[in-house]
Amino acid sequence: MITIKNILRSADIVGKTTEIKGWVRTKRGNKNITFIALNDGSTIHNIQVVIDNTKFDENLIKQISTGACIAVKGIMVESPGKEQLVEMHAENIVLYGNADPETYPLQKKGHSLEFLREIAHLRPRTNTFGAVLRIRHAIAFAIHKYFNDNGFYYLHTPIITGSDCEGAGEMFRVTTLDAKNPPLNGDGSVNFSEDFFGKETKLTVSGQLEGELGALALSRIYTFGPTFRAENSNTPRHLAEFWMIEPEMAFYEINDNMDLAEDFLKYLIRYALDNCMDDLGFLCKMYDEELIARLRFILENNFERITYTKAIEILKKSGVQFEFPVDWGIDLQTEHERYLVEKYFKRPVIVTDYPKDIKAFYMKQNDDGRTVRGMDVLFPKIGEIIGGSQREEDYEKLKNRITELQLPEKDLWWYLETRKFGTAPHSGFGLGFERLILFVTGMSNIRDVIPFPRTPKNAEF
Ligand code: ATP
Ligand code: MN
Repeated sequence: MITIKNILRSADIVGKTTEIKGWVRTKRGNKNITFIALNDGSTIHNIQVVIDNTKFDENLIKQISTGACIAVKGIMVESPGKEQLVEMHAENIVLYGNADPETYPLQKKGHSLEFLREIAHLRPRTNTFGAVLRIRHAIAFAIHKYFNDNGFYYLHTPIITGSDCEGAGEMFRVTTLDAKNPPLNGDGSVNFSEDFFGKETKLTVSGQLEGELGALALSRIYTFGPTFRAENSNTPRHLAEFWMIEPEMAFYEINDNMDLAEDFLKYLIRYALDNCMDDLGFLCKMYDEELIARLRFILENNFERITYTKAIEILKKSGVQFEFPVDWGIDLQTEHERYLVEKYFKRPVIVTDYPKDIKAFYMKQNDDGRTVRGMDVLFPKIGEIIGGSQREEDYEKLKNRITELQLPEKDLWWYLETRKFGTAPHSGFGLGFERLILFVTGMSNIRDVIPFPRTPKNAEF
């Protein structure tokens, strides 16, 4: 079985008989001859199949319309057309499945991305989604390759968590209790001791806390798995279910963490440029003509590194009327992040040393008593693509912070024990996989870079 990608790659294919299987993208011709563009998803390119109508059953040819699935045996010949180098002259055709032109939703080209979201079960068959999904695969592969080549171990952290303190947003509950008639405590609250795990459980928002346990044993680990946030933010950059990559490294301080983040992102972008040019070229042509230049630009420039305090100064002096007013202590909004990246520095920016009140309890406290060693990597068009920090490794300081924030210490005893037994300086970060794919593909809505997006009121496919 040979894919269209491999046929188009083989130098000496002309004159050979082969078989291709795929879905019809377009059909044209006249009563004597039919031209089919066939695609099997292995590449953005189609193979043109030329059918001499007199050799085949009329009814068969009629049924080979856009969307139909066929297998064609034939001989590969040099193509007189300028669209392609080779084409197949059909000798035998099997129709696996027709697609009624009256009802097949992708009968015509040029549907809007919004419409395609409503047919997420079929949109992988479009050029756009084929390209996005192949790039998504390539980047996922490159992520594993990068870490493997650099001595990181892939740690599988749990999807179901009993800890409420991951602190990165609203969580989905996981339960087998009867929603209509749950067991109750005396005070009317739900009695979770009768639930499957004997306690209240949720879907994880991050693998970090468990990742730290791994790093404090294997030195360098990464997670790469789905995470869930029940945040009702209907933005082009948020999903309720998204994939996150979280490396966690013992003995890394904040500067090592920043170096890793920059090297990692550049590696992945370089990988896409080296391996996905056909698909990137298509997306560049169709959606975003600056895409490839923007990707190259990332490779050619060092990321700017500034403190949060400095960032606030720049934003205040900018003279721009932001929707969210700027003052020391605020959480940076996307508009602020994009100003720093796109207008001021004109390159990716890493912001460090955030006010402790807007960051999670586990971030390493600075000596000034008001900032922590967090770092966000900000990208053009996206805003925050990575959030990370050096972690607080001091038992007392961490415990005090947990008390101060009134987090349930009983849920975190195992996390605290890592600071009690052989603690070590360590750091890590979380890269939102879909945010990266957004950047690499130049798409503008995060719903269009994951096969089956989960967003508020949407889990059909
Ligand atoms: P934001 O402020 O953009 O909501 P966050 O501060 O909640 O992000 P973190 O908790 O630091 O993000 O998560 C790490 C990374 O995961 C982010 O930098 C981003 O790339 C990605 N991310 C966070 N929330 C989402 C989401 N709802 N959908 C997709 N990616 C996300
Ligand atoms: Mn968020």
